[in-house]
Amino acid sequence: MREDGTLFCLQPEEREKARKAVWEECRARAMACAACELSRARNSVVFGEGDRGSALMFIGEGPGADEDDQGRPFVGKAGQLLTQILSAAGIDRKDVYITNVVKCRPPNNRVPQPAEMTSCDQFLQAQIQLIRPKIIVLLGSTPTKWVLKTTEGITKLRGCWYDWKGISAMPMFHPSYLLRYPDGRIQGSPKHLTWQDIQEVKRRWDETRQH
Ligand code: SF4
Repeated sequence: MREDGTLFCLQPEEREKARKAVWEECRARAMACAACELSRARNSVVFGEGDRGSALMFIGEGPGADEDDQGRPFVGKAGQLLTQILSAAGIDRKDVYITNVVKCRPPNNRVPQPAEMTSCDQFLQAQIQLIRPKIIVLLGSTPTKWVLKTTEGITKLRGCWYDWKGISAMPMFHPSYLLRYPDGRIQGSPKHLTWQDIQEVKRRWDETRQH
């Protein structure tokens, strides 16, 4: 693979085969990774799941206890809420790709440290290069700050599109934050704002699929 992530001079089927091989190699490296402190207490490496051919990718912060147990991203209470939000907007979870900035659970669900995110970034960047999404949704403050390299808070950034290396990126509240605000009918509440945001994501996703 070239530095820009392209698999050049190959027929489409060969390219797909090569891309799959690079993906599997990357996944295998992550599964055996001990590059940071988070490897010590993990039960699972939560690499990500979903459609690797999707134009829409979601990036969260890191696995929690349920995700660490099951080896899958966003399967606990917050994950179930994310699945509901996607479904309500007409997005089937299996049609998108979902992962996190760090692939191993930070102890007590603390925020991953910069050194841990730096160590794990090789996997996230490889995933983005291989999936080649047109849209990335950044779930919460940590992935927003990490990917967009900003210090602005999520409340200010959410709901707007940002160009990140030619990809449309939208920060949204993390679903675990939304669990604190169950009533989505209140105008201006985090859940109400998220409902607006996900509908905008769906609208943009539909546009990419028409072209
Ligand atoms: S968090 Fe990432 S860098 Fe750290 S051990 Fe897990 S896979 Fe490796």
